[in-house]
Order: sequence, then structure tokens, then C-alpha cells
Amino acid sequence: MRKKLAAGNWKMNGTLGSMLEIDALAEKHPAPTCDVLICPPATLVAAMAASIGDGVIKTGGQDCHANTSGAYTGDISAEMLADAGASYVLVGHSERRQDHNESDADVRSKAKAGMGAGLVVVVCCGETDDQRVAGDTLDVISAQLTASIPDGSTAENLVVAYEPIWAIGTGKVPTLAQIGEVHDAIRALLENRFGDDVGQSVRLLYGGSVKASNADDIFAVPNVDGALVGGASLKADDFSGIITALENS
Ligand code: PEP
Repeated sequence: MRKKLAAGNWKMNGTLGSMLEIDALAEKHPAPTCDVLICPPATLVAAMAASIGDGVIKTGGQDCHANTSGAYTGDISAEMLADAGASYVLVGHSERRQDHNESDADVRSKAKAGMGAGLVVVVCCGETDDQRVAGDTLDVISAQLTASIPDGSTAENLVVAYEPIWAIGTGKVPTLAQIGEVHDAIRALLENRFGDDVGQSVRLLYGGSVKASNADDIFAVPNVDGALVGGASLKADDFSGIITALENS
């Protein structure tokens, strides 16, 4: 059985005062039946991990460097995230791929670093609007994941997030059939590469304009094991509705 995962990506939002949202979330969900993860900006990782521990709500980074340490001004290593109390890290988010020119090879190096530091790595993938319209979605996703996921990944250290770029922060959501088609293809790709045991146990998240109002339908799609949520993860009330939908799915 795959344990469901509700993951929030705060992006470049939040200051120390935002810890109140974490407290409120923990109060609303003292014993969630799914895993709950918040990836705050790097400035808040240590504060969040210290205030919440690694119990009810997990703390994650939004990115990491491929190296452990060194002359990389402004970067943060996976070891540093782990040291600050994180247990997860996102890699290959489309905003990193697009705004920072991260290639699949970069993403794989970061994923390897995250796994090496003992973090659960959420590898993100997704097609552009043009790629979807051209009918290239499955090829794009397959190429991204084949090159971005390191050899030796396991169900314990890998989560995959499918996030169509045109659905992120836009309010547009693919049809349930479109989500299902991509998630089935990702499941098959993982089974082919890592064997049935691992392939069937890696959790697959959908991301892109998930809200409490559409979460029930999305979570009913086979091979959707949770969500990666941007905007609707910033407020405890909004994210709570998504967690509840996932618990009930
Ligand atoms: C994201 O950035 O990962 C995301 C899914 O954002 P949103 O939920 O706001 O579309």
C-alpha cells in the first residue's frame, strides 16, 4: 500500500510569522492518516522543523545543490537541509527548470545528492502547453523522468510529481482522463525501469491548481497518491481541505 502524501510548496512566500499557519495546520490535523509535507522557503526550514519536529508535518526544501559543500554562493546543499531538520526535498520543479535553466542531468545530480543526504526526493516533471497541444506529453514526461531519476532509487527515497506547467498557478486543470493517462504512463515507466516491487510502490503526486474544491475528483484517479500544492498550501484552512480530501480518498 502506498501511503498518500499531501505536499505544500510555499515557493518564495512566507516569513517567521507564517509559522502560525503551520501551527494551525498541526492543530487541525493532529494525527493525519496521510503524510503531510510543507516545503517552506529555505529561511524557514530550520524554524519549521524545530517548531513541529518531524512528526505530524514533515519539512522539506524546495531545491538543493548537487554538491555537499563548496564555493557555490547562494546555494544550499542537501546535507544542510537535513541538518536543518528537513526530511524531503523537491528537485526539478518547472520554475527551477525554466528560471534557472536546470537540465534533466542537473535534476538527476540534485536528486542523487538529496538521496545521499537521507532525504526523500520529490522529482517533478511536466509538459508545456505547446507540448500538450502537439500531442507530445507522454514522450516529454518519459524523457524527463528517464533522465532525471537516478539509478538505484527506491520507494523510500523517491516520489514523482506530475505537474503540467500550464496548470501551475493558472486555475486550469487537466481532465481527469488526462491526469490518469500520464500517471498510468509514469507507473509503467517506473515498473519497467525498477521492477514491479519498486515501480508499484513509488508515490505519484499530481500538481497544478489543486484546491479543496477539485481534490476529491483528482484523488479518485488511479495512480494519484496525493498532490503537490502551491497557492492552496499557504493557508492552513485551504490546505486542510486538501488533506481531508486525501484522507477520505
Ligand atoms: C506548484 O507550484 O507546484 C503548484 C502546483 O502550484 P499551484 O498549486 O499554485 O498551481
